[in-house]
Amino acid sequence: MNAAVSRRGFFSAFAKTFQKKAVAARPVEPATGVEAGTPRSVIIQGRFCIALTSYCAACVERCPVPGAMSRDRGLPLVNADVCTGCGICHDVCPAPRNAVLMLPRRTPIPPPTA
Ligand code: SF4
Ligand code: SF4
Repeated sequence: MNAAVSRRGFFSAFAKTFQKKAVAARPVEPATGVEAGTPRSVIIQGRFCIALTSYCAACVERCPVPGAMSRDRGLPLVNADVCTGCGICHDVCPAPRNAVLMLPRRTPIPPPTA
């Protein structure tokens, strides 16, 4: 072991590393796993969706943006051109494993409709 490194120097080197990481990392929303403030888009994971085997339309009924969600043969369908990524559909999904997956958005958020 290198005797030239003091205990204080050893631990302060660790502290600096962790401080840099803390500054670089942006907080992540626990519910969605997407970085806070990041524009989001939605994907419905059909295999987790209750509507696949039973009835559920909670996400479609609670979506506040007209035309962002519809039902196709009983399953929810997201219109990515209209969806604002508000996350309400994710919040209301009652599936044991949330079927609404929030992802960082790659295209601009559509302007609000009147
Ligand atoms: S994220 Fe918001 S706008 Fe988009 S589908 Fe879900 S509830 Fe509708
Ligand atoms: S709320 Fe969840 S389980 Fe219900 S239809 Fe929408 S995605 Fe499927």
